[in-house]
Amino acid sequence: MKIKSAEFVMSNSDVAKCPKSMLPEYAFIGRSNVGKSSLINMLTSRKSLAKTSGRPGKTQLINHFLINKNWHLVDLPGYGYARVSKSAKKVFQKFITQYFALREQLVTAFVLVDIRHNPQPIDLEFMQWLGENGIPFSIIFTKADKLKPKAINRYVDAYKKVLLETWETMPNYFITSSTKDIGKDDVLNYIDGLNAN
Ligand code: GDP
Repeated sequence: MKIKSAEFVMSNSDVAKCPKSMLPEYAFIGRSNVGKSSLINMLTSRKSLAKTSGRPGKTQLINHFLINKNWHLVDLPGYGYARVSKSAKKVFQKFITQYFALREQLVTAFVLVDIRHNPQPIDLEFMQWLGENGIPFSIIFTKADKLKPKAINRYVDAYKKVLLETWETMPNYFITSSTKDIGKDDVLNYIDGLNAN
């Protein structure tokens, strides 16, 4: 897929106020600092469509972007920011739960995971929750430029091993690097394929 246009639509803390349009929607979510903003900017070939921020956990909003005038890319807040309070975590959980419960337009979620870490409970728990709630998702491994190919395989295998303990198949996954422009076409073509269905 070629990105012809990418426009910011709105930021929102209330799911009910998200765009009413029934265009297919793809949500990007992951731990704070995982490289989500950088990935969105790489996918859309825009330098600063999503704001990369030095302060993780700052943006607790649902951000809608209209791509090629025919689908929405949604930037969801990062989770697992160690310095937020328990009550802030609760608000976040409610907010995310509502987003996934109410957005009928959502085709699939992309859960971003930093390739350099062994499977982390917070990411696994989130994937488990998506699965239990029947929300389709793929995994996007980020920052692949930081590892050699062998190490990439080792970390992906570690994920496969853990996920296959509870899942029948490994979810669809992508290996990406925003600094090296890796994986961009894979993700965009996947979205294109889903949009065509
Ligand atoms: P977000 O908080 O998930 O939106 O993460 P950002 O996109 O703001 O990135 C967090 C940090 O990781 C920044 O310092 C980025 O420069 C860095 N980063 C993001 N993507 C990559 C990548 O693909 N490769 C490398 N080496 N660094 C990255």
